[in-house]
Amino acid sequence: MTKNIITRFAPSPTGLLHVGNIRTALFNYLYAIKNNGKFILRIDDTDSERSTDEFAEQIVSDLKWLGIKIDKIYKQSERIDIYRKYFNQLVEKGFLYECFETQEELDYKRKRLVARRMPPVYDRASLNLSEEKKNQYISEGRKPYWRFKLSGKKNIFHDLVRGEVSVDTSAQSDPVVVREDGGFLYNLPSVIDDIEMGVTNIIRGEDHVTNSGIQVEMFTSLGKDSPVFGHHPLLVDENGDPFSKRNAALSVKGLKEKNFEPMAINSLNTSIGTSIEINSFQSLKEISEILGIARGSTVRARNVARDVFASIKNLVGGEIEEYTKLQAQSREQALSRMIEDAQKSGADAIVNVRFMTSVISQGAAEVLAY
Ligand code: GLU
Repeated sequence: MTKNIITRFAPSPTGLLHVGNIRTALFNYLYAIKNNGKFILRIDDTDSERSTDEFAEQIVSDLKWLGIKIDKIYKQSERIDIYRKYFNQLVEKGFLYECFETQEELDYKRKRLVARRMPPVYDRASLNLSEEKKNQYISEGRKPYWRFKLSGKKNIFHDLVRGEVSVDTSAQSDPVVVREDGGFLYNLPSVIDDIEMGVTNIIRGEDHVTNSGIQVEMFTSLGKDSPVFGHHPLLVDENGDPFSKRNAALSVKGLKEKNFEPMAINSLNTSIGTSIEINSFQSLKEISEILGIARGSTVRARNVARDVFASIKNLVGGEIEEYTKLQAQSREQALSRMIEDAQKSGADAIVNVRFMTSVISQGAAEVLAY
């Protein structure tokens, strides 16, 4: 019998969701519905200074607006007791150790290594501190923080998108799991939740590949197998930079306010970077039937602008070379030309092109006000 698939989307409520974030949400959701599985929303709000309830509520309403049905919502801030329990287990098993360096001392060590052209990996100076020394630090007013002891091995895992992936933990600092104020950092609570919630597939951006290599060891330390990983390429803007939460124009909220169609956003966001023609899909179910995460990532998203041009060609029957040429002279002209062509080709195309053009250029807003 096959396992019941459970995927999750785990944003931090520290800003508005943008087109890049929701690509992750969509891939997770599509994977779940394709496999008759479940989709969990996990609000990663352990950073109490930067997280807000307003952003958390906005995330829920954005996902609903996009047509994503959430089976269960969890908030990490309500689960601290669970993390403590696992934390104690790991201390007992010897996977975690107390450290006493101040931030300045760590910075100094890092700078010295970098100056000697060595990787800035933490030297584990606190690993073998005597009880006496620890007590001395504590009496001086230092508070311990905790690190997870990595094996120093190469961890190899299968990735739904990238195939075999190897992460060399000898090139990584032992990750800090608990800060000196007692607050949990990302990696360990994420692993604990994935275990507790029965997550079978972790689909997220390629910026998390190293974290996955580290988390594999955390799963093992807790006596569990890792879920299946899949890391998709990140969506980037026309300059090759990842989208940022500060970019309100490309936030889901911003797109909604500008009257973009949710399915236009979903259609484009999932097909971009693939060899699949961009269509105006009618439902997420329809997309899930033809587009899996593996296909959704065959081409690096860095080529996004090029792909957008290609899809515009497909949609509105314009000439890609012409748009590209035009764009080289004037982006504004290229955009108005696309819109003109889109207008000739009917409503669906217009909705899509409006979205696509805003992906190409944040400065497109004025041109789009037609
Ligand atoms: N809160 C993390 C992020 O937004 C979650 C990463 C994950 O999927 O585990 O990057």
